[in-house]
Amino acid sequence: RTGSAARADAKFVEFIDVEKNYGNFHAVRRLNLSIGRGEFLTFLGPSGSGKTTTLNMLAGFERPSQGVITLDGKSVDRLPPYERNIGMVFQNYALFPHMSVADNVAFPLSVRKAPKAEIGPRVIRALEMVKLERFKDRKPTQLSGGQQQRVALARALVFQPTLVLMDEPLGALDKKLREHMQIELKQIHEMLGVTIVYVTHDQSEALTMSDRVAIFESGNIAQIGTPDALYNEPATAFVAGFIGENNALDGVVERVDGDQCLVALPAGLTTSAMAIGGISPGTAVQLAIRPERIAGSGEPANNRFKAIVEGRIYHGDHQRLLARLPGGQVLTVKVSPDAAMATGETIDLSWRTIDCRAFPAGAAPDGNTPN
Ligand code: ATP
Repeated sequence: RTGSAARADAKFVEFIDVEKNYGNFHAVRRLNLSIGRGEFLTFLGPSGSGKTTTLNMLAGFERPSQGVITLDGKSVDRLPPYERNIGMVFQNYALFPHMSVADNVAFPLSVRKAPKAEIGPRVIRALEMVKLERFKDRKPTQLSGGQQQRVALARALVFQPTLVLMDEPLGALDKKLREHMQIELKQIHEMLGVTIVYVTHDQSEALTMSDRVAIFESGNIAQIGTPDALYNEPATAFVAGFIGENNALDGVVERVDGDQCLVALPAGLTTSAMAIGGISPGTAVQLAIRPERIAGSGEPANNRFKAIVEGRIYHGDHQRLLARLPGGQVLTVKVSPDAAMATGETIDLSWRTIDCRAFPAGAAPDGNTPN
């Protein structure tokens, strides 16, 4: 079953006006969220934005200060973690060091009093899924970090939970192994059709794996959507800056025409932009433009500027130019690897109105500050 089919049933998990306070610190504020059966949903956001607290309330490790969480239509308010039938995987594996791999994986079945005859075959099946059946008699310390994380995954899946929560499960692995495990996790998700709620602060991980991503900011969800929607239609300057790379330019709105506006930049320049959120003439805005949407040459778009090349970074398959506009603001521009441009040279830059989004400036960039 694919994620998109799964989203039709959008209310498998629901958070309704959920809050979590520690004293007068608001770790999670009035959160409303629906998760579909079979969906792969990722919580992405900076440190301290409330991702783990939200996950822990769903797991049952924390109780909401306010609001209701439902699982399959029923409030979980009075259910302790072990009665929620949720599989869990953490960054630090949390395997039992004195037990063999097979016994670790068998553990959830034993505590659930599964019939003895069933346990062996189910453990083997779970270990096959993560390609570890030949290590079943080893102790966790005799395995690599990636293998230990696979054991933790097998243990989370062996009792066939309908929901699996993962908190930075690949955080301890090196980049190569992490990317490999991302693909494996995604395959397992597709094969089993299990609902996964995943916490990470790695945006590329979130974009690669998820059906939808919820961007957390200061204890709430700034935006939730498909990776594509978040990348192409960020709703706030914070989301635009958090997902993918963005150029942020400061300007002031001169006039608004429907969903577009004209923005004044320093040194008498202007650009047209998409007007996002409540902006009107005189509003200070932040413009967001992706480096790959700025034409360094060829096909000039309607907003055109001269800029001076300040630096060039070669990346093999592309290069990045740092280009200074009159007035001093510097843009990063992604261009082809063979474009020959020297430092100090003047270049023509242009972008389409649709690729330039104007957000009201001054929204707190971060700061989960008390109250
Ligand atoms: P990270 O990516 O660093 O794990 P996060 O987005 O998961 O961050 P949380 O762990 O949910 O953030 O924490 C949210 C906020 O709540 C943080 O500022 C944290 O310090 C605070 N917090 C979490 N647990 C407690 C607690 N038991 N007592 C007081 N404050 C807490």
